[in-house]
Amino acid sequence: HRFPLSLQVAFSAPVGGSDRAVRSSGIQGINSLSFGNKSWIGTALACDSKAAAQRGHVCRAVQQSSKSKVSVVPLDLESAKEPPLNTYKPKGPYTATIVSVERAVGPNAPGETCHVVIDHGGNVPYWEGQSYGIIPPGENPKKPGNPQNVRLYSIASTRYGDSFDGKTASLCVRRAVYYDPETGKEDPLKNGVCSNFLCNSKPGDKIQMTGPSGKIMLLPESDPNATHIMIATGTGVAPYRGYLRRMFMEDVPNFRFGGLAWLFLGVANSDSLLYDEEFTSYLKQYPDNFRFDKALSREQKNKSGGKMYVQDKIEEYSDEIFKLLDGGAHIYFCGLKGMMPGIQDTLKKVAEQRGESWDQKLSQLKKNKQWHVEVY
Ligand code: FAD
Repeated sequence: HRFPLSLQVAFSAPVGGSDRAVRSSGIQGINSLSFGNKSWIGTALACDSKAAAQRGHVCRAVQQSSKSKVSVVPLDLESAKEPPLNTYKPKGPYTATIVSVERAVGPNAPGETCHVVIDHGGNVPYWEGQSYGIIPPGENPKKPGNPQNVRLYSIASTRYGDSFDGKTASLCVRRAVYYDPETGKEDPLKNGVCSNFLCNSKPGDKIQMTGPSGKIMLLPESDPNATHIMIATGTGVAPYRGYLRRMFMEDVPNFRFGGLAWLFLGVANSDSLLYDEEFTSYLKQYPDNFRFDKALSREQKNKSGGKMYVQDKIEEYSDEIFKLLDGGAHIYFCGLKGMMPGIQDTLKKVAEQRGESWDQKLSQLKKNKQWHVEVY
């Protein structure tokens, strides 16, 4: 079962379509997302009855709302001038409770990624773009008698959490699985400890947590009209889900986003897309403020006929990206370490084609604090 984001079809339901068709059509025809007991009503998703009828959708009257964002509490989570940092450390971790663990990918995704919601009772506040540490149970195999090492996970929710009350945080966790290179078979003894612990957790389970940590991926908010180019592979999308919910889903009085958020997401295939319904809904709601480009390595081909990776998408839009960077845009990279060399090569190639020195440009971007990298 795929993580449904508690998505409810409020006014239009596909008739006679398969589950796959519903998912691949994204949020088409869906006007309301419900999260916990709060609902988020779309403004731009008017139900065009003729088009809907052609698609086989049934329309009912919809009440459009201009105040579509979800209100959040407590607003004093906005008042701190500095982000919280390492409130809980490995020697004194916080005991949190698992709220839910849901598979976040479709049946044909290679591997499994889970959306894990954790109740911290409001005691471990964080800002968008930070990470939590998780200490899996058991003994550290390298230091007998000691607890396991902390593993870091980017937080995939805003500071208000998926229930908008500041009491939860969500993680996007991919199970680390080990395949024996000789037999090609999975060796469960060598599977990743913490990712599997989290993905196997049940509601009510207790977990040991540290953090929050990290400043490099904090969303710069001084200019609400800034451009943010977000590049992710797989679970690297986690911090961006937080940013995008803050920009487009939540009603945060002191951050009214009017800039451009441009997400590039690289995954294996369409079943591996993460949080696609949410992102697709922002495209419909905020077409002037959100762009979303996907690179599906096992489904799409790049212009040379090879697999489509995020760097190929970056190359496709390199002129625009370079112009935006020259105009002060922030660029973020998050996901597997292996994504960076290919991306850097592409950016260097494009810079050279433009007669610019990439090394100079990169050091300028870093100096201006426009360059944000968190890869693992
Ligand atoms: P470990 O038990 O630490 O094992 C590591 C790897 O070694 C696994 O692939 C395992 O299969 C393999 N292995 C184990 N034993 C052997 C053996 N004997 N021989 C060969 N190989 C072996 N991950 C996410 O999923 N989502 C995130 O949002 C995320 N954010 C991160 C943010 C930061 C800043 C950092 C630094 C990391 C992040 N990670 C994230 C990665 C995460 O911290 C873990 O590294 C990851 O989940 C693997 O941890 P594990 O305990 O499951 O695997």
